[in-house]
Amino acid sequence: MSEELGVQTKRSEDFSKWYLEVVRKGGFIDQRSPAKGFDVIMPWGYAIWQLIQEKFNVLLKEDGTHNTYFPMVIPERLLKKEEDHLEGFKAETMMITDAGGEKLEEKLAVRPTSETIMYHMFNLWIRSHTDLPMKVNQWCNIVRYDTKMTKPFIRGREFLWSEGHTAHATEEGAKAQVDNVVKKMYQKMYDDFAMSKLLLERPKSDTFAGANFSVVFDTLMQDGKVVQGPGTHMLGQNFSKPFDIKFTDQDGKEKFVWQTSWGITTRQIGALIMHHGDDKGAVLPPEIAPYQVVIVPILFKGKEKMVEDKTKGIKKSLEEDGLRVHLDDRPQSAGFKFNEWELKGVPLRIEIGPKDVENEELTIVTRLGKKDVLKDIDKVKEILADIQKELSHRSEKFLLDSIKDVKTLEELKKRAEEGGFFRGNWCGSGECEGWIKSESGGAEVRGTLYGKEEKPFGNCIYCGKDAKHVVYMAKAY
Ligand SMILES: [Zn+2]
Repeated sequence: MSEELGVQTKRSEDFSKWYLEVVRKGGFIDQRSPAKGFDVIMPWGYAIWQLIQEKFNVLLKEDGTHNTYFPMVIPERLLKKEEDHLEGFKAETMMITDAGGEKLEEKLAVRPTSETIMYHMFNLWIRSHTDLPMKVNQWCNIVRYDTKMTKPFIRGREFLWSEGHTAHATEEGAKAQVDNVVKKMYQKMYDDFAMSKLLLERPKSDTFAGANFSVVFDTLMQDGKVVQGPGTHMLGQNFSKPFDIKFTDQDGKEKFVWQTSWGITTRQIGALIMHHGDDKGAVLPPEIAPYQVVIVPILFKGKEKMVEDKTKGIKKSLEEDGLRVHLDDRPQSAGFKFNEWELKGVPLRIEIGPKDVENEELTIVTRLGKKDVLKDIDKVKEILADIQKELSHRSEKFLLDSIKDVKTLEELKKRAEEGGFFRGNWCGSGECEGWIKSESGGAEVRGTLYGKEEKPFGNCIYCGKDAKHVVYMAKAY
C-alpha cells in the first residue's frame, strides 16, 4: 500500500475524516467498491461481525428463537399489502424489472426488510394456538437504496443484520417479547460493547413503517451526534390482518396473531469505533475484540529460538484460559506491529524479548495506555476484565455528562452545536417536532424514555403550549 501508514487525522481536527481513515487503514471496511454505498467488509471488520453473531445466537437460543433463511426477492404485491410499510420503504427499495433478458411480469423487490415475505409464510404455518409463539430470526443482507450521503457501516446501501420476527396469541405476549429483546438480549450485547445508551420510544414520525411503537438504543458518538443502534418494533396486528395470519385459540375462536420484529446490524461496528476510538485508531472492548491479546516477539540475533518457544507457550496457555490470542510472527519490525494492532483496537499486547524470557516475565501494554511487567500469566484475564469495565465506566460518564436540560428553543439552538442529548418538553405535535429540528439547526426529537415516564418541567419548547412529554433531542447520523 502506498498510502501513509497509521491515522494521520486527529478526532478534534476532523472527526469524519479520522473515522474514514480508521475503518480503512484498520482493515474494517473499504468503500472503494465499484458501486457507491455498497462497501466491502474486510477481514477484521467481518471478524467482529462473526463475534456479534456468535454471541447473539446464544441469546436467540435462550429466547427460543430459531434461525431460518428467507429469499432475498419479494414480489411487489406482497410489499403493497401493508400500506404504511409500503409508504415507508418505497423510496429506498431497489426493484428488479428485468431478468433473463426479458421484462418481468411482476417486479421483484430486493428486500429492504423481510416482514412481508416472512408473514406470507407465517400465514401458511400458523393454524392453532399450539403453533404459538412462533419465533424466527435470519442473518442476511438488506438493501436500502438511500439517496443521502453514504458512510461506511453507518449509512450504506447494503448492510448485514439479524432480523427477528415473532407471532403471539396475545398482545401481552408480544409486549413481553419486546421487553425481553430490549432489556435482556440487546442489553447483554450493549454490555459486551461497553456502550451506554438511552432506551427511547420513538416519536410517531420515526416509528418503524407498520409498527405501533418502536424502541431503539440511541448512543452518543464522540462528536456529540447520535447513532441509532438496534430497533425493536411492536407490530400489533398491523401485519396479521392484511396477511391473514390467524389461529384457532383454546376457546375455539379464530383470532389474528400479535407480532414483533427487531434487528441489529453491521452499523454497530461503526458505532463501536466512533464511540470508543482514539487518535491512534479503534479501541475495541475485550468482549467484542476478535483478538483480545496479540503477542509480539522482540527478536535479537542468536536468541530467536528461546523467544519463539516462549511466545508459543504463552499463546497456548492463554488459549487454554479461553482467550482469543494471536501471535504476530511476521518479519516486520516490532514498532510497525505495535502501531498496526493499536490501530485495529486490540485491547492488550504482550511483548516478549530475551530479557523477559530470562527473567520469566511478560511485558504488557493495554490499548488504554497502561504498561506493566507481569510475573503471573493468569493476570492477563483480570486485566482484560478491567479494560472492559473501564470502557463501560467511561461510556456511562460520557452519556450522563452529555444530557442537558433546555427550556426554550433559543437555548436548544445555542447549545445544539456542542452536541449531546438535550432534554426538553414537547406538546406531542408533529408540526412542532418538524420545527424543532429545522429551527435548532438539526437537533431532532429522538423520543421518550422507554418504560419510564418523566414529568414535564415546562411548556413545549416550540409552541409554548402544555407539554405532554419529556423528550430527548440530538443531532443524529
Ligand atoms: Zn408544541
